[in-house]
Amino acid sequence: MRTISILGSTGSIGTQALALCRLHPEEFRVKALTAHANSKLLFEQVREFQPEMAGLTKPIPMEDIPQDLRHVKWVMGKEALHAAAAEVPCDMVLVSVVGIAGLQSVMDAIHAGRTVLLANKEALVTGGHLVMDAAKKMGKPMLPVDSEHSAIFQCLEGAKGNRPSRLILTASGGPFRTWTKEQMEGATRAQALNHPNWSMGAKITIDSASMFNKALEMIEARWLFDMPPEKIQVTVHPQSIIHSAVEFDDGAVIAQLGVPDMRVPIQYAMAYPHRLPTGCQPLDLFALSGLTFEKGDPERFPALRLAVECMNAGGAACTVLNGANEAAVAAFLKDEIPFGAINRLVEGAIDRLAGLPANNLEDIFHADAEARRVVAELLAK
Ligand code: NDP
Ligand code: MG
Repeated sequence: MRTISILGSTGSIGTQALALCRLHPEEFRVKALTAHANSKLLFEQVREFQPEMAGLTKPIPMEDIPQDLRHVKWVMGKEALHAAAAEVPCDMVLVSVVGIAGLQSVMDAIHAGRTVLLANKEALVTGGHLVMDAAKKMGKPMLPVDSEHSAIFQCLEGAKGNRPSRLILTASGGPFRTWTKEQMEGATRAQALNHPNWSMGAKITIDSASMFNKALEMIEARWLFDMPPEKIQVTVHPQSIIHSAVEFDDGAVIAQLGVPDMRVPIQYAMAYPHRLPTGCQPLDLFALSGLTFEKGDPERFPALRLAVECMNAGGAACTVLNGANEAAVAAFLKDEIPFGAINRLVEGAIDRLAGLPANNLEDIFHADAEARRVVAELLAK
């Protein structure tokens, strides 16, 4: 029996993690749950899983908590994340909130000695060196939930210490894989949210359409597996069956395959090093029409180029990339900008904010705020 706290329990990853807790009540006991604003779903989850603590980062008055849930400890505001990550005793903390909001929680959980199950890639993108240093000092593994990183992690399990010569990070290519730049420029919200293979939260789905998701994942892989940018190759693989692969010096390539279902990597992190049934469909190789591979196109998807430039630039460049992208995606989701403007806003922020330091969390939150400020300025123009 392992105990788990879930930050962002009402989201796409959070609800799937709870489905696994429901499937394996003898394996997992839920200790804390947090959401941002979706109190209705959080109340249902608290009723079912009976955690010790629950909280909403967007506070509501205590009178609004249903009578039958008042025996639970309720924490409101940002403190909810801290309480769930570090105060409520538990073995594992699943950080599945969206955006840089996850960084502080990941650090809190590591410092409290918890094993972190990491869905929130933005924490590594913005503060990867600090997070990995802290985890190393505490002697705790970071267990990736992101499907590509889970795949690489699984491939490396059999490596017996041999370092990979290359990571092959697969990408579906998203809904605009075959679109021209001109077509993408005016793409609608509905078109961008229509991912061909994966059902996910809104922010990451837009990131998949712009391929900023893959940019973030290159940076995530850079930190998780301590690999230089030039050894991380993005390969567009539209069927999303190969979830990523590693290559070794002898030329051997080991890949992890499966149906595109996030319950598999979530389960792998939750039960690691064991494996549990997930309820997902088995992979039927005979039902596949083929597995195909293409090069990512940095001309149509500048995110792929910007990720490499920011990793090579060092300092807070990746934090700026992430903060500007979060702000631009929020504006796109509110129909304030065309799809094509996301790239221009992020590149504009990176150009203006070169050289910001990233020596500690304060530096990183400052760079993030600067990136959002620059995007707001560019938007006002
Ligand atoms: P969702 O948008 O579906 O869910 C986000 C969760 O975080 C919700 O519980 C939401 O609460 C909460 N939340 C939103 N804003 C804040 C905030 N400012 N502070 C604290 N909590 C907040 O996202 P996903 O589940 O899709 O993604 C979560 C993370 O996992 C992201 O970092 C994403 O990149 C990563 N990831 C997701 C994958 C997927 O398949 N979905 C795959 C790989 C990685 P509320 O519901 O109340 O708004
Ligand atoms: Mg992924």
